[in-house]
Amino acid sequence: MRKVIAIDGPSGAGKSTVAKLIAAKLNYDYLDTGALYRAVALHLKRLGLDANSTDQAIASVLGKTEVAFRNGRVYLNNEDVSDEIRSTDAGHYASVFSTRKPVRDYLLSVQRDTAEQTNLVAEGRDMTTIVFPDAYKKIYLDATVDERMRRRTLELTGRGQEVDDHKIKKEIIERDMRDSGRDIAPLKKADDAHLVESTGLSIQEVLSAIMNIINDISVQGKTL
Ligand code: C5P
Repeated sequence: MRKVIAIDGPSGAGKSTVAKLIAAKLNYDYLDTGALYRAVALHLKRLGLDANSTDQAIASVLGKTEVAFRNGRVYLNNEDVSDEIRSTDAGHYASVFSTRKPVRDYLLSVQRDTAEQTNLVAEGRDMTTIVFPDAYKKIYLDATVDERMRRRTLELTGRGQEVDDHKIKKEIIERDMRDSGRDIAPLKKADDAHLVESTGLSIQEVLSAIMNIINDISVQGKTL
């Protein structure tokens, strides 16, 4: 395995924005594992599978599936699905199918194979706990539900979409519950991960807090 900076945290904590900036700074590749889960879920959904499908049915589809993340784009059997996976629906199905063992087993090897080839900044829900337990540095990036709702609202209104704050908050809470409450690889802070609480911080402030951790720089007597 090459060097991996592993970042976990709930949806909307700012992991992808900051992971991309760190990757650019260190000249590492960026791995968005949520995009892999979204692409697999899109594939299963397109083929008519759902939460009631058996593990066997899911495994059989995945045996003939190739998912890859390259240069910021995600490919499903060589089709670029990077835009299609960004819908709220795709996020929902990713969270539903990500509870399933064949999906997690399949993507575990995709993720680890990627780290054999290049240094990575990898972000997701189980980077620090399951996929890269020996990562060079481990970060748990958090933010309150209200802060994550605010960021998501800004993002959607920035894209010209109408938003309903309450609906967004409900979706965030549901997603948190599913991601943290599942049996396999639930979202949680690894004991040896550094906690970065990003509520009220700018992207630059979060970036510098994480770069301090990566560079082992202490601030006011403690490593942030
Ligand atoms: O990060 P993103 O919102 O794109 O992830 C979509 C969903 O994929 C998450 O809500 C989670 O259920 C799942 N996921 C996961 N493990 C990861 C990355 C994402 O279970 N490492």
